[in-house]
Amino acid sequence: MTAPTRLEIDLGAVAANWRMLAARAPGRTAAVVKADGYGLGAAQVGAALARAGCGDFFVATLDEAVALRAVLPDADIAVLNGLASAPADAFLDHRLLPVLNTLGEIAAWGACAARHGHAVPAFLHVDTGMNRLGLSAAEVATLRAAPERLAGVSIACLMTHLAAAEWPDDPSNAAQLARFADARAALPAAPTSIANSSGMFLDGAGSDLARPGAALYGLNPRPDRPNPMRPVVRLMAQVIALRDVPAGALVGYNGSWAAARPSRIATVAVGYADGFPRSLSNRSAARFDGRAVPLVGRVSMDLTTYDVTDHPGLVLGDWLELIGPHCPPDALAAAAGTIGYEILTSLGARYPRTYSETAAPEHTA
Ligand SMILES: *Cc1c(COP(=O)(O)O)cnc(C)c1O
Repeated sequence: MTAPTRLEIDLGAVAANWRMLAARAPGRTAAVVKADGYGLGAAQVGAALARAGCGDFFVATLDEAVALRAVLPDADIAVLNGLASAPADAFLDHRLLPVLNTLGEIAAWGACAARHGHAVPAFLHVDTGMNRLGLSAAEVATLRAAPERLAGVSIACLMTHLAAAEWPDDPSNAAQLARFADARAALPAAPTSIANSSGMFLDGAGSDLARPGAALYGLNPRPDRPNPMRPVVRLMAQVIALRDVPAGALVGYNGSWAAARPSRIATVAVGYADGFPRSLSNRSAARFDGRAVPLVGRVSMDLTTYDVTDHPGLVLGDWLELIGPHCPPDALAAAAGTIGYEILTSLGARYPRTYSETAAPEHTA
């Protein structure tokens, strides 16, 4: 028995996306592989990117970093959520760089350095307007007034994160960049890290180390323009049931869709338990034979239904593209009222996965 779904992940496209971003960056380009590589597999994605020449990686948690370290023995791996979840020594044991987000974390890292008798590298995160993580302007002022608080901390990068980089006209971008310049002036000289995927397409957000995530996985960094990234993910689902219904028939839970004409309904084995959002009920379309196939009725836990009336050639066992070049995660997300990030990080564990590495010339630098 083969499974009626298939999640295809093109690591060659991930590598090509990284190369395209790296070519436009003024400094180095890292890869953000948190949340298991945005749901696609941090180990596979990390290894493919390392082969493409990427040497700097970001994850969210210590556990993610330890798992990635096993795959990438030589890479720089930084942990965005900082020391919050683990003792400082655990980071040193695995040669990981915490992103220090508070004065308390700076003190803990300094104490760790003192125990080991030498300075230890870490990122320093300055909050310039997200109000989520990072040192506030007041905390930066404290460090300026008492630089000894940074004893033992070797600042690998001074980092900030933009709240609306995908919208270049959003005034928060210039405001955050200005606050970051102020923070830099108050702190010891260090390399900088500013841009996420969208920031790499934003004037003035260049830095020594870019931190793209989403764009590597094919999401559009500039929603106001055509997507320059290569698609990475394809979710294929086989038609496991096919039925003809008369006009007036109701499909799915609560009969939220009624056939306006005699219709043919195809059922696939994908549902919200697979991370296929229930909010797509009666919205969006799959793709078959070069044309759209409308999703009809409620998305249920393990099943989704499509109106294939206009595809008389479709037979039981045919495959629909639910996500892919013709059904981009960004479009699905828009129909579901979410963002492509959530579509990718929700991709379910029940899909058998295949990894390919097409069109990915080896790194030759
Ligand atoms: C997730 C994250 C990124 C990557 O952002 P994308 O929009 O996916 O490119 C970069 N920096 C920080 C601090 C993040 O949390």
